Amino acid sequence: MIMPGNLLKQAWLISFLIICHNAISQSAQNPVNFSLPLKSIHPTSVYGWRIHPVTGKFRFHQGIDLKARREFIYTILDGTVLQTGFDMHTGNYVLIAHSQELQSLYGHLSTITVYPGEMVFAGQVLGISGSTGQVTGEHLHFAIRYRSKSIPPLAFLYGLANQPP
Ligand SMILES: [Zn+2]
Repeated sequence: MIMPGNLLKQAWLISFLIICHNAISQSAQNPVNFSLPLKSIHPTSVYGWRIHPVTGKFRFHQGIDLKARREFIYTILDGTVLQTGFDMHTGNYVLIAHSQELQSLYGHLSTITVYPGEMVFAGQVLGISGSTGQVTGEHLHFAIRYRSKSIPPLAFLYGLANQPP
């Protein structure tokens, strides 16, 4: 059966919102405390297939790119810092575990202000945006992993912002 494009898109979005809902409701608190990763959200490159701006290769973009200019980056949910470091693609990055199955990743930072093993809280500053790694300009690379797979970060943030009371 062939589904019309927008219907397929809707089904895809709903299934992801259900995944997001499940990911969020694992938390003991309800509704959970959350923060946006930046004060304001301006995507410059979306999640999904794209031509990489540096390599020119067709690759799946596992997160979104958000406009940032030497800005504080905030932890989106309570959690524990799993890893910090430098990667030639992601630059200086912070990986935070919010549960056994849910992680958030923040890349291309200029400064990291947390350390592995540290407990962090929603809204806590974890670093300052930058242009480290493989970039054409300064931005935040932000990604969500659920059960070892990336999920659309904006749909996830939307799910957090619209939690049932
Ligand atoms: Zn990116």
